Amino acid sequence: MQEMEETLFIIKPDAISHAESIIKRVEDEGFEIIEKKRLNLDRKRASEFYAIHKEKPFYSELVNFMSSGPVIVLRLTREDAVSYLRKVVGTTNPSDAAPGTLRKEFGSGVCTNAVHASDSKANADKEIAFFFK
Ligand code: UDP
Ligand code: MG
Repeated sequence: MQEMEETLFIIKPDAISHAESIIKRVEDEGFEIIEKKRLNLDRKRASEFYAIHKEKPFYSELVNFMSSGPVIVLRLTREDAVSYLRKVVGTTNPSDAAPGTLRKEFGSGVCTNAVHASDSKANADKEIAFFFK
């Protein structure tokens, strides 16, 4: 039996109209929602959230996109939550993502890829604190 973990999941502005299906999928995969909220990230908050990428060429496009409309932020729990959710989400570029993954189904480009999922336990803790503490 694997350890219970928490992870942070975001439905990005491009996928807000699919929020119901995306949330159902995540619940069907065995995740429980501990907390959930819909909010708008302004440019400052979006920049802070993605600060790790600030030197990347796609940073300003990413900040513009993430502040372009509402997002839904979910604090999720499950056994092995961090790596399991990354598998459900799929690769960063939806065109490379495996069939059945959320990004394959709902993403439309490498920036507009529908969802975010924490990539490690340490980052999950930081990202949960960023939104919920
Ligand atoms: N991104 C982008 N262009 C790229 C790579 C990433 O616009 O070439 C965006 C995309 O929305 C991605 C986010 O930046 O989800 C964070 O990038 P990361 O490499 O951390 O990908 P993820 O962990 O989300 O798969
Ligand atoms: Mg990442």
